[in-house]
Amino acid sequence: MNTDLALGIGKAWGTYLTKKTTRPKVAIGTDARLSNDMLKNAIAAGLLATGCDVVDVGLVPTPTLQYTVREKKFDSGVIITASHNPPHFNGIKGVAADGTEFSKDVEEEIERIYFSKSFTLATWKQVGKHTSWDGAIDLYIKGILATVDVAAIKKKKFHIVLDCGNGAGSVVTPALLKQLGCNIVPLYCAPDGLFPGHNSEPLPENLTELIKTVPQVGADLGAAQDGDADRAIFVDEKGTYIWGDKTLALGCKYETKKHHGGVAVTPVTTSSCFDDVVAENGGVAVHTKVGSPIVARVMIEQNAVFGGEENGGLIFPELQYCRDSAMSIAKILEIMAKEHKPLSQLIDEIPKYEVYKIKMACPDNIKEKVMETLVAQTKDDPRVKEVDETDGVKLYLADGWVLMRPSGTEPIFRVYSESKSKQKAEEIALTYRKLTEEIIKNQ
Ligand code: MG
Repeated sequence: MNTDLALGIGKAWGTYLTKKTTRPKVAIGTDARLSNDMLKNAIAAGLLATGCDVVDVGLVPTPTLQYTVREKKFDSGVIITASHNPPHFNGIKGVAADGTEFSKDVEEEIERIYFSKSFTLATWKQVGKHTSWDGAIDLYIKGILATVDVAAIKKKKFHIVLDCGNGAGSVVTPALLKQLGCNIVPLYCAPDGLFPGHNSEPLPENLTELIKTVPQVGADLGAAQDGDADRAIFVDEKGTYIWGDKTLALGCKYETKKHHGGVAVTPVTTSSCFDDVVAENGGVAVHTKVGSPIVARVMIEQNAVFGGEENGGLIFPELQYCRDSAMSIAKILEIMAKEHKPLSQLIDEIPKYEVYKIKMACPDNIKEKVMETLVAQTKDDPRVKEVDETDGVKLYLADGWVLMRPSGTEPIFRVYSESKSKQKAEEIALTYRKLTEEIIKNQ
């Protein structure tokens, strides 16, 4: 990741956009990382060279940039961020005009232009203009406040410990929570690209201070955001870390109940507690391939009422079709306010499953064949009720499910299983790993 790469991507991106629109308008923003200004200016130069106008919206969470692109009618958005990764990483993410992340097709088209260097550069008279705008944060906070029940949340005067992890959430979430009448105990709410507080991935081992502080100060809950603030993780009033599958199911339960059903979308890897709460409210659960842009696009196609991932990436379509941590925090407060229950009780009411995850080695070149054989061999397996080939091979059994999913980056299959008991989940995973290993051996 260097300036040459960023400049080339800017030119490829601009070439792609100018083929579709004359004089495209592109919003550009960053998280808090040290290499951001360098990469941002290089990409902007590439976009300007192809005849795009660039508007710099500054340091913002990824969902803030996405909301701005849609609301202010940009043709595209660029966010420079490495999400939850270590401080020396960085990345470039593309946003489409509707505010969703670029689809894989668009990314591949931009890559094709980049690698073939088939850039269309503007003439000297037509190079783009570079301006900046500092209204994105206000616009986004107003959008959230117009979507949640502010009066109900304010009435509860929630006491919340907020851990922004020195990430981009720092510039939005404390201000949002103040406007929701919360009493905030801030932890690491100053943006800092060195992430001096803790590692930016909101895992339990990185949130020890949040987990300790919530019961210590008698707060109603704790909330943490990853580096670019698209994902949120919660801690209940007792200081218990809540895994993302439970929060996802809680959001899903509330939204499908509110809409008397409706479609809810999540990847095939998600816990069955999601499906259970959808069924409970008369809705339909739709499972997609893994990846938040895929979930978002299926939500748009199916006019879904809710969607998201188990990693704390909740999507509330009332605001926008993307993972959004500040919106998730506001929504969890709304749920607590409307249901008049503490967070621990709301989570306790979500159906419980045990998950087991293992992996197995498999060369990349035989993965497809292994999956085909696996489907053929399990179709008549009396234990298998249904075979789902959405992403890998998922087998629904009488007492749970198992998914063999090829990794896109490593020569392995990941095996996920789920059942009501830990022992059963382990047994299912081991049984079907053994079967798959035999198929791999026989290739
Ligand atoms: Mg992220």
